[in-house]
Amino acid sequence: MRIRTVFNRLLCLQGAWVREVEFMVAAVVVTVAARRRHHRCPRCSYTTGAAWDRHERDWRHVSLGKWRVVIRATLSRLRCPEHGVLVEAVPWAAHESRFTLDFEEVVAWLAREMNKTAVTKLMHVSWEAVGRIVERVVERKLDKKRLDELYEIGLDEVSYRKGHKYLSIVADHRSGDPVWIGEGRSQKTVSGFFEELGEERSEKLQVVSMDMCAPYIAEVSERAPNAKICFDPFHVVKLANEAVHELRRGEARERKGTSEAAVLKGSRWALLKAPENLRPAEQVRLAEVAQLNQRVYRGYLLKEELRALYTCGPLARSDISKNGSLGRAAPSSGLSARCASTGPESSMRSGSASPTAASRD
Ligand SMILES: [Zn+2]
Repeated sequence: MRIRTVFNRLLCLQGAWVREVEFMVAAVVVTVAARRRHHRCPRCSYTTGAAWDRHERDWRHVSLGKWRVVIRATLSRLRCPEHGVLVEAVPWAAHESRFTLDFEEVVAWLAREMNKTAVTKLMHVSWEAVGRIVERVVERKLDKKRLDELYEIGLDEVSYRKGHKYLSIVADHRSGDPVWIGEGRSQKTVSGFFEELGEERSEKLQVVSMDMCAPYIAEVSERAPNAKICFDPFHVVKLANEAVHELRRGEARERKGTSEAAVLKGSRWALLKAPENLRPAEQVRLAEVAQLNQRVYRGYLLKEELRALYTCGPLARSDISKNGSLGRAAPSSGLSARCASTGPESSMRSGSASPTAASRD
């Protein structure tokens, strides 16, 4: 088999055939030619047979063992009526990229699986190049219709750089997929999402679940007039947990030096954990709290009843309303209300049912 045929099969370059293979000191230089005769504008579908001038260009391809593979081709510049004079597009690489599509795919996959410094060492590319490659691959792979059918979405933040920086993430509750990510967690960040979504698609939004982040509430209230805001159960239950924690600490402080204080001090996890996850020793500790301190135990029951609200469907809710325990938990609550539409307090009162999964607690 001739070496050109071997490399044609090995590289599988889209729209190109191998003309020549040269072995250099540490690299194989594979000279290729495009199969099509016309030159295509890299920014639109315009093609022409006329060339402005021709230049040789190299691209990094995925290495073969210890051999670095370089793809070389002679490209023409063309004059597009709309975009002016540009270097023609090639099917094996993105416009203005010095890497083949296959190489970029590998780098982007590695960047997802390992840190950027490790990728630069493994692939012998610069830190900046990894960033640009990831941007190009995301742009190519991103589903352009992902914002089209959004009705129930979730808005949440994640931190990076040890909690110093944040990203805002929008997910489609129906598909479970993230559909938009922006840097920061300000109102301006969320505004970027609505800019991209546009007025018409924003009006289709029915439910937006989120934590109790004021900028999120402000922007969604303004930009999605038909959407109800629901607070994520995780954040609501977290507030209740914090309240129980503070109550327990306060009570223990007041009874400092007594055996009751000792029980309260050692009951942190018994009070915070879900009852179904309690170990036998924690169950005993909880029973001791129930006997010794009614205030803390009542706080615990209120927290658990709030948590139970999120595991109830609309039918179960009416049954529970008849049950004395929930009546005790929220004597003035409107249990039929599904969603809060104002501030965090209203969510706490109504026990809003967000479309997100049950509490992570
Ligand atoms: Zn063009």
